[in-house]
Amino acid sequence: MAGEGEWPAIGIDLGTTYSCVAVWQHDRVEIIVNDQGNRTTPSYVAFTDKECLVGDAAQNQVARNPANSVFDAKWLIGRRFSDSLVQNDIKFWPFKIIEGHADKPMIVVTYKGEKKHFAAEEISSMVLKKMREIAEAYLGTTVKHAVVTVPAYFNDLQRKATKDAGGIAGLNVMRIINEPTAAAIGYGLDKVSIGKRNVLIFDLGGGTTDVSLLTIDDGIFEVKAVAGDTHLGGEDFDNRMLKYFVEIFKRQHNEDISVNARALRRLRTACERAKRILSSATETMIEVDSLYNGIDFYSSITRAKFAELSMDLLKKSIELVEKCLSDAKMDKTRVDDVVLTGGSSRIPKVQQLLQDLFDGKQLNKSINPDEAVAYGAAIQAANMVGMGNEKVQHIVLLDVTPLSLGVLSGIGDMSVVIPRNTAIPTKMEGNYTTFSDNQTVVLFSVYEGERARVVDNNWLGEFRLSPIPAAPKGVAKLKVCFEIDANGILNVSAVDKTTGVRNRITVTNYKARRSKEEINRMVQDANKYNIEDDMYKRTVKAKEVLEKMAKDLKEIQNELDAARKKKIKLAV
Ligand code: AMP
Repeated sequence: MAGEGEWPAIGIDLGTTYSCVAVWQHDRVEIIVNDQGNRTTPSYVAFTDKECLVGDAAQNQVARNPANSVFDAKWLIGRRFSDSLVQNDIKFWPFKIIEGHADKPMIVVTYKGEKKHFAAEEISSMVLKKMREIAEAYLGTTVKHAVVTVPAYFNDLQRKATKDAGGIAGLNVMRIINEPTAAAIGYGLDKVSIGKRNVLIFDLGGGTTDVSLLTIDDGIFEVKAVAGDTHLGGEDFDNRMLKYFVEIFKRQHNEDISVNARALRRLRTACERAKRILSSATETMIEVDSLYNGIDFYSSITRAKFAELSMDLLKKSIELVEKCLSDAKMDKTRVDDVVLTGGSSRIPKVQQLLQDLFDGKQLNKSINPDEAVAYGAAIQAANMVGMGNEKVQHIVLLDVTPLSLGVLSGIGDMSVVIPRNTAIPTKMEGNYTTFSDNQTVVLFSVYEGERARVVDNNWLGEFRLSPIPAAPKGVAKLKVCFEIDANGILNVSAVDKTTGVRNRITVTNYKARRSKEEINRMVQDANKYNIEDDMYKRTVKAKEVLEKMAKDLKEIQNELDAARKKKIKLAV
């Protein structure tokens, strides 16, 4: 843990495609430029016959060396090889991925003439090391301490893997903070003196959507709720436009270019460019020379058409805002500032839908979507090492856990110990008992998710508590304690209150973890399945009542039998 006088401590936004580093210096945050003079650095790592390149140098040689140029490591971190999304995306990555130990995806490259295998956290550690070196070159001193950001919807393992990546890079990761929370710190720092404000951060990036609702009050940044979708962002809008132009090409030339990966890649790049232009112009041209079979492709698209093509996705991002407000139990009229961040928040239709939701309220576009996260991380880093002005030192960060956490109880029910959107760090307890007579071992299975039955949630791990003195079921008094630290990392322990026997786990079981996408789907499904889950709960209740009635009836029957026997005896 860093302490006062440990400056410099930097803030790093470890992005999927770009990363950014910042530091508190000269009484303000400075975004640090890299050796190319750029304020953001590509999250690319390339391996050649002679060296390992990171950042701009790696990105610049992709066309020459595609199989050994790695990107999207953040997307892979903490996911399983068998994850359907990984399987699906493997075909689009020019580098090779194989299944490693415990279902871990391993990236295969040729480095200095030899085959090498790298885990995603190793690639991320090379990017983090590069960001550290950029900071060291600028500051002229060694940098050891950092605050690193992750998406609010990163699960326990993804956070831990990111922390590990920092360790491999020689950094002491003082804290992992959520990207929208970091953006909020940057936004809210100057508003410390203007009283309590409810701020909604709408972060629509290249691959993900994160929504966070915070209350900022006299330097206390309290996250009320988060909502998100880890597969909703700019790339999905690009795909919609791509599909549209593939159809146009088919109509114009009677040719299907979707069978040709190179043609698709070139058209996708043109679509992404057109999409950006449509944020400022109402119509734009698409031109790709010799796109397929020597045919030059020319077409155009209006802003309105693009909005129509993506409307369901845009509406989905707005629904996340509604969900976040509902989880925070805050009426939209109480939101003081709606702050936009992430490159895709520049799309005019998104802005209009958001503005409509807030009854015409002016949206706040004052933060730089590319730098806001690193900016906030640098403020948090300064705060943690006792640097910065009074406002920086005044900051208190209260974040939340995005998913409910609990244990299996009864015949497959999810018994929630920490509900989602609980402020972290936190420690909560639940009381349990044995399920059958003379049970001397209890297996605690830990889950995260919003569904009533554990089979529909994510299994995180399990541990045994034994020996428990033999006794009738329901007599043992077992206490389970869930503890989430400030980084969002979970520890679970259990104790038999009578004997003092205890056991604990840190949830790091890689094989057990499901993907971020799956977790997110579960949260989204939760609303849809609420009715089904309610029905299940009612059925379980009814079954319990029936069982109790049957037990009572049996007892009455036994008493009657005993009385009858007594009578018969007397009669004899
Ligand atoms: P980020 O992850 O926040 O850097 O956002 C990257 C995404 O923002 C990419 O999908 C970009 O295509 C998209 N983007 C950047 N600028 C614009 C713009 N002016 N209009 C629409 N999308 C944009």
